[in-house]
Amino acid sequence: MSDSLFTEAINGDRRALARAMTRIDDGASGVLDAVAGLEPRRATTPGAPFVLGVTGPPGAGKSTFTNRLIARARANGERVAVLAVDPSSPFSGGAILGDRLRMEAHASDPGVFIRSLSSRGHLGGLSRATGQVVDLLDASGFDRIILETVGVGQSELSVMGLADTVLVVLTPESGDVVQTMKAGLLEVADVFAVNKADRPGADGLRRNLELMVHLGMPEGAGDGHWTIPVHTCCALEDQGVDEVASACTAHLDWIRSDGRLAWDERRADGRMRAFLDVVASDARMRAETAVRDSGLRDRIRAGSVNAYAAAAEWGTSS
Ligand code: GDP
Repeated sequence: MSDSLFTEAINGDRRALARAMTRIDDGASGVLDAVAGLEPRRATTPGAPFVLGVTGPPGAGKSTFTNRLIARARANGERVAVLAVDPSSPFSGGAILGDRLRMEAHASDPGVFIRSLSSRGHLGGLSRATGQVVDLLDASGFDRIILETVGVGQSELSVMGLADTVLVVLTPESGDVVQTMKAGLLEVADVFAVNKADRPGADGLRRNLELMVHLGMPEGAGDGHWTIPVHTCCALEDQGVDEVASACTAHLDWIRSDGRLAWDERRADGRMRAFLDVVASDARMRAETAVRDSGLRDRIRAGSVNAYAAAAEWGTSS
């Protein structure tokens, strides 16, 4: 890929930005060098830009909530990018979340950039592509990047490792706290929002989540420890959204003070994951080509060598 596309994107050309993102999503050749040349601010400075992860079950109200957040950020004069990461919808190619957001009033606002990423089925490709796109948006000067994923499955949750702050949106209908824990949402949450508070059961879920958060706190945790806040809200009616938004900002403030070590640790994990994602998808591609060329592929497919013996053979020959 020509570096000029990246340069144009960084200099504010939105079409170039969209095209560069498509190249990243496709894993096009040359992407790695172009991304390696970026200088993301967030590598060293928490909150520059503020990367907010929003996750939760389908239908919880994430898009509705995100639209409320966009409106607030714009009122503060912030430039906002939203990345809807949706690998779980093969038919839409990941467009559903992004399209739903795009339909809203912000679509024509030049200070708002909305895109969906699908990373068409590459193993490890999703977090690779998302990480690279976040770096590009960062280098392009956005003040706030909202990463929206459906909170089901490991790859979607691992994307949340890119965020400074993770907001988990649940509803009274999305299941109880046991299901929330099983889905791994407690591990990624920095803030909980129980949306659809206009429906029965929201307060009960909030109390149970608070109890779960309390039970999950390390022994003797006190000053300086982040306690995951739980708020109820109604994104549809724009009620309680300010409290949730403030809780997210408070988490960012915490990162900049007492939570700096935890943030550094998250970034360190993120750098290592980014490295492994790139290496893993590269190794897979090389293996696919090599076994085809050597004839090993035909033997694996025919069953004349089993997968494990073939892997051992490939391992010694590569
Ligand atoms: P997502 O899949 O998590 O992004 O969910 P959406 O934002 O698309 O919302 C799913 C449905 O729930 C839509 O029909 C919304 O209008 C509706 N919805 C969102 N927030 C609320 C709320 O606070 N109360 C009620 N009753 N419905 C809501």
